[in-house]
Amino acid sequence: MAADISIPTTQRAALVRELGGPVNIIPDYPVLKPGEDEVLAQILYTGVCQSDLHTARGTAPGADGKPILNVKLPHVGGHEGVGRIVSLGPSSASVPEVKVGDLVGIRFLARVCHECEFCTSQREQHCVNATNHLHHEDGSFQEYCVLDRNYLTPLSPDIDPVVVGPVLCAGVTAYKAVKNAGLSPGQWLVVVGAGGGLGHFAIQYGKVVGANVIGIDTGQVKKDFVESLGGRFLDFAKSPNVVEEIKTITNGGAHGAVVCSGSGRAFTGAVDMLRIGGTLSCIGIPPGDIHLTTPLATIIIRGLKVVGNLVGSMEETLEAVELVRQGKVKPHIEVREFDELPHIYEMLEKGDILGRVVLKVAT
Ligand SMILES: [Zn+2]
Ligand SMILES: [Zn+2]
Repeated sequence: MAADISIPTTQRAALVRELGGPVNIIPDYPVLKPGEDEVLAQILYTGVCQSDLHTARGTAPGADGKPILNVKLPHVGGHEGVGRIVSLGPSSASVPEVKVGDLVGIRFLARVCHECEFCTSQREQHCVNATNHLHHEDGSFQEYCVLDRNYLTPLSPDIDPVVVGPVLCAGVTAYKAVKNAGLSPGQWLVVVGAGGGLGHFAIQYGKVVGANVIGIDTGQVKKDFVESLGGRFLDFAKSPNVVEEIKTITNGGAHGAVVCSGSGRAFTGAVDMLRIGGTLSCIGIPPGDIHLTTPLATIIIRGLKVVGNLVGSMEETLEAVELVRQGKVKPHIEVREFDELPHIYEMLEKGDILGRVVLKVAT
């Protein structure tokens, strides 16, 4: 195939050789050849997610609250990638039609079984036989990535490849969290950790469903940012009593709270801001064994709902992407060179990033 001729055998990749060790950009990581029913995509751009950092550090918690240490090494992270198909492996009769040149997304989920209870109910992010680009397979922090042709994320040719990467993890997660808050137009949504990658999406998806959005964060920069997205800002460091202030603004409490912060106290505080019957929609996974400390009596007597959101299904991903394609949601991104990833991790640790950093991978 002609397209194969220009594909190198080695590439730049961001390698973590041991969890907790440094991330290094190396020039000579092998480029895999696509196997049966696989494609090879050249990575154009990739977002940098907090989960990449926590996985590389060995601090990302699993469902039992303990760190996930069973990670393929060397580890190549990246699960907010946008790529262009450059080569097709041999294919069986049943695989979907794709061609060289198509734009595809590289998401958290890599492969699913299409057969389990969750795959057959549009919740395949919970597939019991899945592999993902965080723990099992190399992701978009490399120049070329092999993808399963039976589970490609198609992106329309008119989508902007520079901005759409962060929608594939942060965006869809926030989209789903807002959807699960079950808000009607005019109801109140509180977004905790409003100025970060997840938060800035949650504000905008909240506006799309017609909610009145209050963004909680701290500092003048985040205030300006939240207000530019159409949210009302509340500075948790300056307010004498955030919960009381929210209750006053909303006349009794918010109908939904999306918590993007990684702090356990932020989740418990958000429950106190809810109206009777309100929903706590959780997305930021705090590293470590962190518990929601709200009394059960509070949840029962106030009729509250608590819902967790692990990314989203393919269907939800494409819905979140479509709202960006239509211009209703605008990812706030800062483009950096691929080689800057180690520095970006340091910035992420300090919470210094507004919206999302996107790395330019293809040269
Ligand atoms: Zn992510
Ligand atoms: Zn499955």
